[in-house]
Amino acid sequence: MSIAENFAEIRTRIAEAARHAGRNPESVRLVAVSKTKPASDIAEARSCGQLIFGENYVQELVPKVKELPAEISWHFIGSLQSNKVRQIAGMVDLIHSVDRISLAREIDRQWGEIGKVCDILVQVNIAQEATKSGTSCEELIDLVRVIAQLPNLRIKGLMTMPPFFDDPEAARPFFRRLKELSGEIEAAGIPGVEMRELSMGMSGDFEAAIAEGATLVRVGSALFGSRG
Ligand SMILES: *Cc1c(COP(=O)(O)O)cnc(C)c1O
Repeated sequence: MSIAENFAEIRTRIAEAARHAGRNPESVRLVAVSKTKPASDIAEARSCGQLIFGENYVQELVPKVKELPAEISWHFIGSLQSNKVRQIAGMVDLIHSVDRISLAREIDRQWGEIGKVCDILVQVNIAQEATKSGTSCEELIDLVRVIAQLPNLRIKGLMTMPPFFDDPEAARPFFRRLKELSGEIEAAGIPGVEMRELSMGMSGDFEAAIAEGATLVRVGSALFGSRG
């Protein structure tokens, strides 16, 4: 299947999953995960109307941003080292993967340098997997409170990556937990903190994530093919 056909199919499945959950299809945005894929694939996806692309690596993102049209909205979704933040300051519209105060402080500093505010999501490692980034559920609220004090960051919601399961239904409790955590933070009424985004769901489980309230689904291989 071509990239155009993949986008048509995934958009249809997103809309159906939203309707099935009694949600407005427009409340779910597709982040096309283009890591390891060439700029030509992104250009093709852009010509299918796709605007938001997710990248994981600074060294891959920077040349793509330079090569591709300025109207593209780039999201950073991978684990981010503080010493690389400066290279992407002002380039991305949303960082999904903020999971520690030292990283938040560096983003605040670098965006401050260019006089801008960076929208971020806080990544939560619900299953406490050693191989994955993310703060623990227990530490989340304190981290949110500290980040909320930083003038050049704006918390827009939460992100998670559940453990891998063959059956996407098995991921649902993790998606549900992220939504609950988001509700708890909202109830805490921390000034400047918004819980409007839930970034959850990938190629294998985005429909389950939408059923549990995802507003941003991060889909890569189902759109661009496997990464080999
Ligand atoms: C690679 C990646 C994705 C996309 O995964 P697919 O299974 O290819 O859809 C989503 N989120 C993150 C954080 C990723 O690193």
